[in-house]
Amino acid sequence: MAKDLLLENLSKRFGRLVAVQGVSLEIREGEFVCFLGPSGCGKTTLLRLIAGFEIPSGGRILYDGRVINDLIPQKRNFGIVFQSYALFPNMTVFDNVAFGLRARGAPRERIAPRVEELLDLVGLRQYRDTYPAELSGGEQQRVALVRALATQPSVLLLDEPLSALDARIRVHLRSEIKRLQRSLGITTIYVTHDQEEAMSLADRIVVMEAGTVRQVGSAGEIYRRPGSRFVADFVGTSNFLECRRVDGSSDTVAFGAWLLRVDCRLPEGGDRLFVAIRPEMIEMLEGPGDIGGREPRNVLEGTVDGVTFLGAVVRVVVGVNRESLIVDVPYREFERLPVRQGDRARLYLPPDRFMVYPSA
Ligand code: ATP
Repeated sequence: MAKDLLLENLSKRFGRLVAVQGVSLEIREGEFVCFLGPSGCGKTTLLRLIAGFEIPSGGRILYDGRVINDLIPQKRNFGIVFQSYALFPNMTVFDNVAFGLRARGAPRERIAPRVEELLDLVGLRQYRDTYPAELSGGEQQRVALVRALATQPSVLLLDEPLSALDARIRVHLRSEIKRLQRSLGITTIYVTHDQEEAMSLADRIVVMEAGTVRQVGSAGEIYRRPGSRFVADFVGTSNFLECRRVDGSSDTVAFGAWLLRVDCRLPEGGDRLFVAIRPEMIEMLEGPGDIGGREPRNVLEGTVDGVTFLGAVVRVVVGVNRESLIVDVPYREFERLPVRQGDRARLYLPPDRFMVYPSA
């Protein structure tokens, strides 16, 4: 039987503030799940409920079929890594990693090989007799990671473990965490507000807003089919065109004077609609002339307001209809049509690349 972690209608209130509200989620054994959301959305509180540092105000937490709501953190056998490395400053790297094993009364002769094996996993054996203050932030976080793994926890919980590190180290450690998780097959929950981190790490991302779960899915699912305007905005970059319905039409919306063809179901609701499209899905067309087999209604014209080189892509902002559309043009393509601020530009918005949300 797989040892799954189950959250059932879980809530947490602090006085009148509802930090987590009616969260239900099934996390399968061996899965890597990220809780992703803006500051204050309740992701840390949800993780702390799972860890046992907070008692739920309502709902249940089950692990391996057993309700663990009232189980103290130590009895849950979950490994935890925080943003601040929280290493014991007066203990060597070796003693930090050995701490949990000693606390459980592991026999002396078993401790040294286990600690060395763990330090090897993250390439830190040569630092075994060093004190935390002598290590870089990235090294300290590696120690914190294997310290959490020392007692072979059944679930690994990480709360923004990389956010105190600089960008390069963050990306490097990210892949190291992923590699470790894969090789150990340990169920992992990782809290972050960084969408790139969530997308590169998680088997499934849980997008949260205001204490609730807004969407659960793989990075690809969430990026390609955001279920709400909030998710389309929070995960990746989206252009939102304020449009109106066109009487009697199920595949056309009015964007100012333009009538755009939209190849997706229009949601129920009011007259106003938000039509979203990702910057890399908009095509910049060369000069006037042939538009090939493209839908002629979806060719828009505007004025270039800004051009920014981002490396692999060039981000061009085009003013259309009093809105600024962000268009990401691959660098090689940009070389063929080097637009500059003030130029006129023709854009193509493919009908099958839109996502449409009600305005409310
Ligand atoms: P961040 O990324 O900023 O840490 P978060 O998504 O992790 O945000 P939480 O830390 O879970 O959010 O906080 C959710 C809400 O609950 C916030 O409004 C926060 O102020 C509140 N909160 C969290 N812990 C407590 C507490 N012990 N007492 C009172 N309010 C709390």
